[in-house]
Amino acid sequence: MAATVFADVAVPLPIHQLFSYLVPDALQADARPGVRVLVPFGNRRLIGILVRVHEEANAPSGDGLQLKPVFSVLDRVPLIGPRLLELGAWVSSYYLAPPGEAFRVMLPPGLLARSVMTDQEHCWPLRKQLAVVRVTSGSETALSSKQEQAFEKVKAASLPLLLAEALQLGCTSAVLRTLAAKGLLEIATVEVERSPWSTVHVQPGEVRRHVLNEEQRSAFSQIEQALSAGSFRSLVLHGVTGSGKTEVYLNAVNEALGRRRTALLLVPEIGLTPQVARYFQTWFKNEAAILHSGLSDGERFDQWLRIKQGDSRVVIGTRSAVFAPLENPGLLIVDEEHDGSYKQEETPRYHARDTAIKRAQLENAVVVLGSATPQLETYYLATSRGQHGYHRLASRIQERPLPTVRLVDMRIEFQNRGRAAVISQILEDSIRLRLEQGQQVLVLLNRRGYSPLLLCRSCGSTEACNQCSISLTYHQESKRLCCHYCGYSRAVPKSCANCGKQYLFFVGEGTERIEELLRERFPEARLARLDRDTVQRRGRMTGILSEFAAGNIDLLVGTQMIAKGHDFPGVTLVGVLAAEQSLRLADFRSAERTFQLLLQVAGRAGRGDQPGEVIIQSYFPNHYSVKYACAQDYARFFQEEIEFRRRFRYPPFAALANIIITGKDRGRTEQLSSDVLRVLTEERRLWSHEERMRFLGPAPAARERLRGDFRFQILVKTTSRPELHRVLEATLTRAKDIEGQGKGISVDVDPVNLL
Ligand code: ADP
Ligand code: ZN
Repeated sequence: MAATVFADVAVPLPIHQLFSYLVPDALQADARPGVRVLVPFGNRRLIGILVRVHEEANAPSGDGLQLKPVFSVLDRVPLIGPRLLELGAWVSSYYLAPPGEAFRVMLPPGLLARSVMTDQEHCWPLRKQLAVVRVTSGSETALSSKQEQAFEKVKAASLPLLLAEALQLGCTSAVLRTLAAKGLLEIATVEVERSPWSTVHVQPGEVRRHVLNEEQRSAFSQIEQALSAGSFRSLVLHGVTGSGKTEVYLNAVNEALGRRRTALLLVPEIGLTPQVARYFQTWFKNEAAILHSGLSDGERFDQWLRIKQGDSRVVIGTRSAVFAPLENPGLLIVDEEHDGSYKQEETPRYHARDTAIKRAQLENAVVVLGSATPQLETYYLATSRGQHGYHRLASRIQERPLPTVRLVDMRIEFQNRGRAAVISQILEDSIRLRLEQGQQVLVLLNRRGYSPLLLCRSCGSTEACNQCSISLTYHQESKRLCCHYCGYSRAVPKSCANCGKQYLFFVGEGTERIEELLRERFPEARLARLDRDTVQRRGRMTGILSEFAAGNIDLLVGTQMIAKGHDFPGVTLVGVLAAEQSLRLADFRSAERTFQLLLQVAGRAGRGDQPGEVIIQSYFPNHYSVKYACAQDYARFFQEEIEFRRRFRYPPFAALANIIITGKDRGRTEQLSSDVLRVLTEERRLWSHEERMRFLGPAPAARERLRGDFRFQILVKTTSRPELHRVLEATLTRAKDIEGQGKGISVDVDPVNLL
């Protein structure tokens, strides 16, 4: 009896399992892991990824015979190579994500379109096609004067002309076709690649290569040694702001290429650090590919294909670029590894840094985690556990000093002035002084809009979103109250919806208000604002940043966007308003986040010839994260924070998973949460122990309603990661039997955001 061949397929549906199909004889040669297959699913047809093929000598009777056959194999070449298939399986199991969703993020959009009706729809999206006109021969033929003219025009062009360009030059298509018929011209269709590099404004001549200083050289040589060993190695590059980490990355990437390996550089957001992308392209030219969320589907597909075909051996990109189809990567760099944007907040909820580490393990590659403020866990694993190598860049380039930091106690400011000040006297005077000297200033307030609260002073009620439990922020530009979660907005009411009185007041301020205040005080200054509202339109962000870099803006107000990685040598003063504001959030990482933000924004000052100064305003100046940020002392902050984590069993001393239960009806959602807790408790009895695993909740999430859904959460804290996975896996399997087949239950492993 002939062996029966089975294919295990990941289908693009939120289902936590692979499905088996029979592989008909005719498809057996093509059915290889990593190709897309068209399969029946219920009464639908779906495109899935073939993950595994296995043979069984004796076809199982019963179940096996019920299996349906694969309809067709869609690719000649596997779209997902063997190492990435392994990585996808890891993402799926580690983050408890349905395998179909884990593989979906590895591919450009559209390749796994859910339901397929015709055979036409699932072919590869083609590269963009354009017709060009070019000269083929100079043979003697009699030509009319019009034909003669057209021929000369096409000949004069040094490159093939686009058909559209030829038409613009006055050649009619009839004449061109006649010339083609005579064999003088050829009209051909060519594939063109949609290149996204134009979006990062590469200006030639701007990028200088530097000779590495001693600290950089020693960091580089550590990476070089690791590369030459040819096995997995992880390395933390802890370099103060302005220590020249980028230059180390570029040299390291170059080194990896020299060793016939490929390389990947992950950055939090391309738009915010166009310099890095610019350096990258200047160094690696045509070898460089770029992947980020701002690309069109076509651009993204073309970049993906370039990488897949080996035309690009280096990639710079954001989160999902960790899955770029590079062959044999030798070096993966995660810049600003502490950045929260590396965590995907929807399924599959992977963390790009941790996924990069896993990928490096699978590929025998070197992974470099760079930051001026490493995430606490990363630093702990490197320095206390020896799990990563550790290299410190302790000083800035050219021995430039770190900025001096001054802390303004806003409680004293209030006493002195007898009223609440938004901008302290010291900060105002310092801004004036810097502006007079022709220097640049950054002012950070991590809250957009004009005012975060519209309060009725008669009854105390505030205007909140109907769909989300969050107060509405007033936006001056649109003159509306907006929800920062769901985007809902409404006009500002004249009177209180609750008591009908007209005592509505704005309380507190956001960046719009600060911009207004600064305009009043410094009418001569060229001022701009950078936050999510001003960058809505594509390209606006790079516009503001490059204007600032060119010195055409004196004063830039913004949210945390202005704190990230920028290298503006003209900035000598950074002002921070309401430094403590993120401390109030009910998240165990809030101290760490505050510290990182303050240190990062401070790091924007004094990167040029002039030393920098930072002024931090706070009502909470004694908090350790504010105190150590002012001292720019990472080690002391770490010591204090790690004790808190140890005492209360937070990462890195425990693994966390957040189970989020959502639904339209509050009572039903709460009931579902209790059901989930009951199942969790039963599974814990089987696989773990109360002493090693604790459940907190179910409790309404800090933001109980979002976009109309009620949200409850159960936080799982454990000292055993294998047990965590067993318990969660078993719970999810059983969740199918709970109400609604477990819809509305999602699991966030290693959550970054607990709100
Ligand atoms: P970081 O990312 O560590 O904050 P950057 O990589 O932005 O620092 O580097 C800061 C500045 O120093 C950049 O303008 C960079 O071009 C410059 N730079 C880097 N290395 C050198 C060097 N060896 N000599 C002179 N300037 C350098
Ligand atoms: Zn809302």
